[in-house]
Amino acid sequence: QVERQSLSQKMGKPMRTIPCGRLQMPMVGLGTWQANDPKEFEAALNQALDIGYRHIDTAAFYDNEHIIGKIINQWICSEKLKRDDLFIVTKLPIQGIHRDRVEKYLCQSLEKLCLDCLDLYLIHFPYGKTESTKEVVYEKADHKGIWQAMEKQVEAGRTKTIGISNFSISQIDNILKFCKIKPANLQIENHVFLQQPELVQFCHQNGIGVTAYSPLGSPHFNTFLKHLGLKERNLVNVLTNPVVAEIAKKHCKSNAQVALRFLIQRNLAVIPKSTTPERLKSNFDLFDFCLSDQEMKKLETLDIGEEARICDWKFFPKIEEHP
Ligand code: NAP
Repeated sequence: QVERQSLSQKMGKPMRTIPCGRLQMPMVGLGTWQANDPKEFEAALNQALDIGYRHIDTAAFYDNEHIIGKIINQWICSEKLKRDDLFIVTKLPIQGIHRDRVEKYLCQSLEKLCLDCLDLYLIHFPYGKTESTKEVVYEKADHKGIWQAMEKQVEAGRTKTIGISNFSISQIDNILKFCKIKPANLQIENHVFLQQPELVQFCHQNGIGVTAYSPLGSPHFNTFLKHLGLKERNLVNVLTNPVVAEIAKKHCKSNAQVALRFLIQRNLAVIPKSTTPERLKSNFDLFDFCLSDQEMKKLETLDIGEEARICDWKFFPKIEEHP
């Protein structure tokens, strides 16, 4: 922690963190879903590390762990960075959501990332799927067995902390009843239109850090649906909202910076994805302005709840609604 802060101070960029179990997680991380073009993504990763990003969010599902592994390994080998400067998060894929498969999938991710140990390993979804690629059958996941297998990974030194993603209050409450190691972090969809205040408050009250995914409203989500051959959806648009735009104009900031700063001031970590140089830079520059209480309240009124959910998982066969 001390080392991480002194490094960021040397770079002249104050790095803010939130607790993540026994670690501190940098509040601004790099999202990497749909960053698959090797050349473009390698350049973006190098630039992000130059800018000062130290928290990188990936998943076995994103199929880009090997690219991240290549670049961070180059930075560590050339002594531009120490392993402990980085905060690397990846996730157990849906076909690994079974007590007997956790170790196998974690080891595969470690190998691709060229790491011995992760900072945070998340269960990507609260439900599972068989390993067979032909058969798509969603299993009712055995959360107790899977969490115990996750705890074993901490004991074995393969990850420093463990957490969950896309879990509900009742699913987290259930884990809290039997866990030996508490979830350190919950990663959920969160942006001005879907603020989930009860879930966030529940986590904060129980000492679980929260990370907001799709913090800019995932403008590339329809590309993903199209890629799957599915119909495009009419999604909320965080970046063109007039309330966000008006506040941004007042602060001489971009709409994206205001949307991200709003989440930071609610004590959430944010993981905006970008492979565009200018956006990578501005998405990281969130600590030289502050939204007033009045502006925060105005942005809070944009919350329309479930209606705004982008990642509803309906693109997975047999998933009818968000768990
Ligand atoms: P997002 O970060 O809200 O939006 C990313 C999109 O916005 C990209 O198309 C990006 O384009 C564009 N963008 C980025 N910065 C911008 C700016 N300043 N102005 C205008 N456009 C901008 O969406 P997301 O990728 O869905 O979510 C972020 C990360 O959360 C993911 O990458 C992933 O790591 C994680 N995630 C996790 C889950 C989960 O189930 N746990 C689900 C979804 C996402 P360019 O790249 O072209 O700049």
